[in-house]
Amino acid sequence: MAVTTEDPHQGDSGVALVAPLAGTGQCVVLESEARRTIERYRQLKGDASEAGGQLFGAVTLSDLRVVAASGPYDGDNRGKFEYRSEPGAAQAEIERQFARGLLYLGEWHTHPEEVPVASSRDVATARSLWRCSRLNTNALVMIIAGRAPRAEGLALYRFDAGSLTRVAWQDR
Ligand SMILES: [Zn+2]
Repeated sequence: MAVTTEDPHQGDSGVALVAPLAGTGQCVVLESEARRTIERYRQLKGDASEAGGQLFGAVTLSDLRVVAASGPYDGDNRGKFEYRSEPGAAQAEIERQFARGLLYLGEWHTHPEEVPVASSRDVATARSLWRCSRLNTNALVMIIAGRAPRAEGLALYRFDAGSLTRVAWQDR
C-alpha cells in the first residue's frame, strides 16, 4: 500500500478506493496507481480537453480490482465536453493488457465539472460498449473524473445490458 501524503492539490490520490456492488457480494477496488493515472488528467484548467481511456484488472469472487488505466491515445476524439478513444489504439491496448494477464474492465474519462455525473452520451456509449464487448465479467465499470479532489470527484458507475448505475465509494 502506498504511503499517503496530504497535498491540497492532490487530495488523497495515493489511496485505493473501495465500492461495494449491491447484490453481488463483490467490491470494486480502484487501486492507487490506476487512480493516480486518471486524476492526472482532471480538467483543472478552463480550456482543458476531456481525456480518457480503458480500465484493466482482475476479477475474483470478492473483487473487481482495477489495477491499471490506459490512455489517452493519439488520434482520440477530444473536446472540452467530449471524449472518445481512438478505436484501434484502445483495441491494441486491450490486447496488450490481456497478454500481461489483465482483463478489460471498462472505461474512464474526465468531465469539466466539480462532481461529475454521467451524461446521456455516456449512457449511450455504455450501451454500445456492452453490446460490442466480449464479456469476461458480469458488469463493466465506468469512472468519470471531475475537478473536485478526493473520492467525491470520482464518479463510479457499473454498466450492464440496459443501464448505467451509480455506485458509492465506501467511507474509509
Ligand atoms: Zn462523460
